[in-house]
Amino acid sequence: MFNYPDISNEILEIAIKKENELKETYDRINDISEANQFKVLSAFREEKVAEADFNQSSGYGYNELGREKLEKVYSDIFHTEDALVRSQITCGTHALYLSLSAILLPGDELLFISGRPYDSLEKSIGITDSPMSLAEHGISYKIVELKDDASFDLDAIKDAVNEKTKIVYIQRSKGYINRPSFCCSEMEEAVKLVKSIRSDLIVMVDNCYGEFVEEIEPTDIGADLIAGSLIKNPGGGLAPIGGYIAGRADLIERCAFRLTAPGLGKEVGGSLGTLKSMYQGLSLAPKVVGEALKNAYFTAAMFEHFGFRCLPASNEKHGCIVEAIDFEDPEKLKTFCETIQSASYVDSYVRPEAWDMPGYQDQVIMASGAFVSGSSIELSADGPMRPPYTAFFQGGLTYEHGKYAILKALQKILN
Ligand SMILES: *Cc1c(COP(=O)(O)O)cnc(C)c1O
Repeated sequence: MFNYPDISNEILEIAIKKENELKETYDRINDISEANQFKVLSAFREEKVAEADFNQSSGYGYNELGREKLEKVYSDIFHTEDALVRSQITCGTHALYLSLSAILLPGDELLFISGRPYDSLEKSIGITDSPMSLAEHGISYKIVELKDDASFDLDAIKDAVNEKTKIVYIQRSKGYINRPSFCCSEMEEAVKLVKSIRSDLIVMVDNCYGEFVEEIEPTDIGADLIAGSLIKNPGGGLAPIGGYIAGRADLIERCAFRLTAPGLGKEVGGSLGTLKSMYQGLSLAPKVVGEALKNAYFTAAMFEHFGFRCLPASNEKHGCIVEAIDFEDPEKLKTFCETIQSASYVDSYVRPEAWDMPGYQDQVIMASGAFVSGSSIELSADGPMRPPYTAFFQGGLTYEHGKYAILKALQKILN
C-alpha cells in the first residue's frame, strides 16, 4: 500500500489488514462489473451507437436520433419496453414525482411498502402539505412499515391493498433511514405477492443508487417501472444532468406526456449537447459503480474497527452504494463531511455547513467537491442534522480516491 504521508502508521496497517479481508468481496464486485460491462456494451452494439448520435438538435428537438437511441440502450439494459432518459428530468426526485404524477389519477391510492419514502418526496406526496402535491390532486397514500428485521411485511401489505390502490412503491436504497438497502432477490418475493393480489397493480421501484450493484435490476424481477438520477450510478460520473425512467411502454408514454405535453411526449426535448456524456458515462458506469461499492465496504470495515456502527456491516450484502455510519455526535458528523470535502478534487478548500436544503425537513450537511455539482456517484457524504447523526457516504469514481478520503476522515475523527 502507498504510504500516505498524512495518514498514521496505525491506520495504514489496519487498512492493509482490512483490504486483505475484503479480497473475496472485491473479487465478487469485479465479476459483477464485468457482467454489467458486457450487458452495457451489448446494448450499445445492438443499437448501433455511432458518432453522429452525439450531435444535438435545437428548437423542438424533433428527430434527435442520439436521444432516441440512448433511450433504446437504456431499455435494452433494463429489459424494459421503453425508457425516458432526459436532461429535462432535473434529478432523482423529479424522475420519481414525474412517474407518480403521470400515472396516478384523482381517487387513486399509492402504497409504500418499504416504509416512509425518501425525505425529498414528502412534499411531492403530500406527507408535508405543499401546492402540487399528489394529495392536493386527490391522490391518497398509505405507508406499510418494514418489519423489525427490515424485511417486507407481507401480511400488512396484503391488508393495505384496496380497490383504490394503483401503484405499489418500493424504495431500494435506504435514503436517510438507517436500514439495509434491498437486493433484487429480496424485492422479488414482495413483487410476486403484490402481483398475486391483483395483477394490474403497478410496481414501481425507486432505483436510486442501485443501478449496476447487481447483475440484475428490479425490472428483471417483475417491477413495472424504475426511476433514478443520472448524477448517480448510471451517469458514470460524466453525465452533467438528467434522470431516467424505464418500464412498460404505456407507463413511459404517460410519463413523457407529463414531462412535455399530451400528444408531444417523447418527440420533443433537445438534449443540448449532453448526449455524448450520457453515453460515455453509461459505458463507464458498471466499473464506476464497482469502485463505489468497494469504497462502501472499505468504509464499513475501517469504521467498524474503531467501534462505529456501520450499515450495512462489512460482512453484510450491499443493495446499493451507500454506506451509513452512526456517529451519535453532531460534531463527528460535521468533521466527517468536512474531511470528505477536503479530500475532493474540486472545492477542497471550502468547509461545508448544514443548511435548509429544498425538499428536506431537517438541516442537511453535504460534502460534494464534485466536477458535476451535487453529483453523488462522485465522492460525497451527507447527513441530516438529527440523531443518531448518521453520515451517508457514497461514490468515489475510483477506489483509490475513496480509500484515501476514508482514511483521512477516520484519522481526523480519531484525533
Ligand atoms: C438520491 C435519492 C433520490 C433522489 O434524490 P435527488 O437528489 O433528487 O436526485 C431518491 N431516492 C433515494 C433513495 C435517493 O437516494
